[in-house]
Amino acid sequence: MFDVESIIRQNVLNLKPYSSARDEFKGEASVFLDANENSFGSPVPLPLGEGLGVGLNRYPDPLQKKLKEKISSIKGVPPQNIFLGNGSDEAIDVLFRIFCEPKVDHVIICPPTYGMYEVSANINDVEVRRINLLPSFELDVERILESFDKHSKLLFICSPNNPTANSFHADDVELLIQKFGGIVVIDEAYINYSRQKSAIRLLTEYENVVVLQTFSKAWGLAALRLGMAFAPQIIIDYMNKVKPPYNINQATQQLAIGALDNIDWVNQHIRETIAGRKKLEDALQQISLVQKIYSSDANFILVKVKEAQATYDYLVSLGIIVRDRSKVALCEGCLRITVGTESENRALLNALNKFQA
Ligand SMILES: *Cc1c(COP(=O)(O)O)cnc(C)c1O
Repeated sequence: MFDVESIIRQNVLNLKPYSSARDEFKGEASVFLDANENSFGSPVPLPLGEGLGVGLNRYPDPLQKKLKEKISSIKGVPPQNIFLGNGSDEAIDVLFRIFCEPKVDHVIICPPTYGMYEVSANINDVEVRRINLLPSFELDVERILESFDKHSKLLFICSPNNPTANSFHADDVELLIQKFGGIVVIDEAYINYSRQKSAIRLLTEYENVVVLQTFSKAWGLAALRLGMAFAPQIIIDYMNKVKPPYNINQATQQLAIGALDNIDWVNQHIRETIAGRKKLEDALQQISLVQKIYSSDANFILVKVKEAQATYDYLVSLGIIVRDRSKVALCEGCLRITVGTESENRALLNALNKFQA
């Protein structure tokens, strides 16, 4: 059986976490003079009103219990297996701080992939080992299995992957979980647009899996900064010890609960985005500048064009911004295009059609 604590840093194992006023008193009370807050209130109200008298003047729930209950009922994951971060980015950083000894341990990433894993590694002074995807954009399972050792603490798998837009084979991912000696972090920022099942189902079977999801994409709340991690309870407990005590502010907790009550809006726009993706793919196929359209399981399309830099610059000159990925491993000549609204997609297509003329 995999022993999570055997790969956690000693300083984290020994850590006595900050104990806040809200941790030390949990019962019912009416007079709160324990946290040096402003008892008179706040100069602005919470966006959705103050409900049970908890305004912006009060410190928020450090463990976000109400919000986790809501997420739990939608995701089918118990609250004790959920961590919330100030964006997925915070969950990624917290994992580095728990598992990776600077200058000693390393992590494995599979380029081309999301840039934040490497930035977070650099901030934490942790080495990054890169095992590129195969030309088919599949995981190079064999090379990953050959190359890890006892200092390989985290393996990042982004599925569907940014920027290649494909999901990885479930069998490959599960095999890596079985063989890898560290934690496999499966980033599912785009799972809502995918035909693949979430890796959340693997949490009941494996102790070394962390699944990341976010409110920034399908949930339409990128500005809020709210990311989710689903993991075995022992990992979640350490994540909660290491995070800043009040990392999710009260307005965010309240707004996210409001969003979870409005899941129909989210599902409708997922369907619209997937339909828009198909339409955009078909239309891009007709443009001679376009050399290849990679199959997408996400809300963006990776497109190979004849002159990526010139195309990008031309689109910018018209106020249309896509992502130039042409300098990234295996993505030579590629632009990453987010599926927008119908009129945004049309503006893009009109521009591209003019550029080829
Ligand atoms: C957009 C994105 C995220 C989201 O990060 P947040 O910090 O939650 O906004 C995470 N992972 C990948 C691969 C992404 O593309």
